[in-house]
Amino acid sequence: MDQANLPATPDRAEPSSRRTFFRKLAGGAAVTAAAAATVTAARAQTKTESQTLPARQNSARARQAGTDFYEYHGREAFAYTKKDGNLAVDGYAGKRWVMLIDLRKCVGCQSCTAACKFENNIPEGSFRTWVPDVEIGTYPETRRAFLPRLCNHCERPSCIEVCPADATWQRTDGIVEIDYDKCWGCGACVNACPYDARFINPVTKTADKCNFCAQRVDQGLLPACVETCIGGARQFGDLNDAADPVARQIKSEAVQVLKPGTGNQPRVFYIALPDQLQNNPPGRPTLWSKLFAEAGFKNPESETAGEWNTASAKEPVHG
Ligand code: SF4
Repeated sequence: MDQANLPATPDRAEPSSRRTFFRKLAGGAAVTAAAAATVTAARAQTKTESQTLPARQNSARARQAGTDFYEYHGREAFAYTKKDGNLAVDGYAGKRWVMLIDLRKCVGCQSCTAACKFENNIPEGSFRTWVPDVEIGTYPETRRAFLPRLCNHCERPSCIEVCPADATWQRTDGIVEIDYDKCWGCGACVNACPYDARFINPVTKTADKCNFCAQRVDQGLLPACVETCIGGARQFGDLNDAADPVARQIKSEAVQVLKPGTGNQPRVFYIALPDQLQNNPPGRPTLWSKLFAEAGFKNPESETAGEWNTASAKEPVHG
């Protein structure tokens, strides 16, 4: 990519390789395994009807990311709120997280779609990431193309400036977050995003979108979609780290972004992005919704689409 077109990056703190960074953060596989066991145990615990809030607050997961979200909405979700502390709010100083998606390796298996839904507990019919499957070209020169979609964590996010509740912000490491305790679901950010990345979560009645799995990244883990990508099409790295293989690839190879004319400066980069899709990327899934409807299921997202006042059951929280 032309260096001049790369997003501006903030001053860096101590540079270190991505491998070293994740090794330090993860604290080794033992910590990860222990954390996973803790989460599993906590999930099992929440299924018991006798579970009480004080008991949960005393659990090993108390005050972890998403705790407030659970208490408010009564469901498991690993989502930060500003109450979750400095790391949740500020992110990692000196880092600039980016995603690189090599479309030559994507086989459209939807593993990433499923992993994201499991990791973030996204309701049926809603998606933080999805992989449209489209036919491109002109007969007989046609082929199928897959285009993984998600929030671009734009360098200049148009979603933030329109939020009347100060519920969405950008961390210093570039991740665009939503404070689910503050959001009242007005939908302004949904409309402002030129990438169709946001939606109103039909369960929480708040805006929702990909957060690069910040709750995982902050523990030294990769986003769930990257971790599960069977073809290795999705990669995640630090654009500020000259030694990071993802950063090196972005700076040395021909990479593209979606809708470059928006001025948002996306930080999800693609390799081998078809010209036909760059400025007209397929939107949110409709095929599955149609299949759900035909099978007699209600699609909660389509029920709330266009009805941004569905959040009225939740009082706005200011300050
Ligand atoms: Fe905001 Fe949309 Fe950019 Fe994500 S892709 S940062 S939701 S404008």
